[in-house]
Amino acid sequence: MTLSIGILEGDDIGHEIVPAAVDVIAAAAARYGVAIDWHPIPIGRRALETHGSTMPHGTLESLGKLDGWILGPIGHQAYPKVPGAINPHPILRKTFNLFANVRPTRSFPGIGCLFDNVDLIIVRENNEGFQPDRNVVAGSGEFRPTEDLTISVRVISRTGSYRVAKAALELARQRKKHLTLVHKNTVFKLGCGMFVEECYRAAQAFPDVRVDEVIVDTFALRLLRDPQTFDVVVTTNMFGDILSDEAAGLVGGLGMAPGLCIGEGRVAMAQATHGSAPDIARKGIANPYAMIASAAMLLSWLGNDRGIPEAAAAGKSIERAMETALADPSTRTRDINGVASTAEMTMGIIKALH
Ligand code: ATP
Repeated sequence: MTLSIGILEGDDIGHEIVPAAVDVIAAAAARYGVAIDWHPIPIGRRALETHGSTMPHGTLESLGKLDGWILGPIGHQAYPKVPGAINPHPILRKTFNLFANVRPTRSFPGIGCLFDNVDLIIVRENNEGFQPDRNVVAGSGEFRPTEDLTISVRVISRTGSYRVAKAALELARQRKKHLTLVHKNTVFKLGCGMFVEECYRAAQAFPDVRVDEVIVDTFALRLLRDPQTFDVVVTTNMFGDILSDEAAGLVGGLGMAPGLCIGEGRVAMAQATHGSAPDIARKGIANPYAMIASAAMLLSWLGNDRGIPEAAAAGKSIERAMETALADPSTRTRDINGVASTAEMTMGIIKALH
């Protein structure tokens, strides 16, 4: 079976780290005999220049035919204020119902982590919560009735809470069988209350997974004190957004924060946590780890979902190769105590694959 994977470079450092991720995936796939059909798809500022839109007509139809895609960071805040310049993120997440954002945090020796032995995954609900660009189907979840007053609406649904909890429980079952619910139902009695109720309802089908709860502010503290006590964590959209950046700070920064967006459908989107980092674009110094690790998650996910053990094995082999590259300052970038360029780190990972 041939996997169809899209390549969407995005903006700024996306033009450096997405090709790096493609090179690593292609090398691992070749080694394990996994056939991949690559589909470059224009998106972002370059697409605006060439096609008149940051998400040209037909993009969603093209993506719908794929098994998954690698999405580089999108620097939409810097887009010019013209009609074709839209932020593709909410459209992609909603169209393909990518409701779970799976964000791992792992420590590696020598790269400047605050702790050793951190290995946790935050599963962030991705399509509702406080994010006004995606918690409603029309209009915005934020509005200003008077000059003096802004109202931001937080959406929590039983369906949304149940399905993200189920995705997190499935992940927990494959790992240490430990899931932590992070919320603030002491104050948001209805919103977080519903989220927690649905998490426990989903957990009834997973009696083998131990489920506990931590209030969000306590969790923010405990991430800085005993992050090793967590394995899989599930939380609502904005809490997850903030906490996954905090978690990245524990292990070397945003360059070390990968992610995979999944849903009930059979597509997945590899997307690093970080933004397009215009401050370091075109210098050849961006850390490609987060993007490569996101793409490796996609490959493993496709391997498991489609029943292609070679793809799952190729994904695992990338994880091992990255461990090897990260252990040597000459094959890791400056942000993580190394001296390598993006290209040198990528080559280091590809060499370690062999
Ligand atoms: P967004 O709101 O779009 O997520 P952001 O405000 O979080 O973006 P980023 O673009 O992620 O900002 O960058 C934040 C800082 O982290 C910048 O100084 C940037 O250089 C650094 N950074 C982000 N990604 C990387 C990377 N892959 N390698 C090295 N440094 C990075």
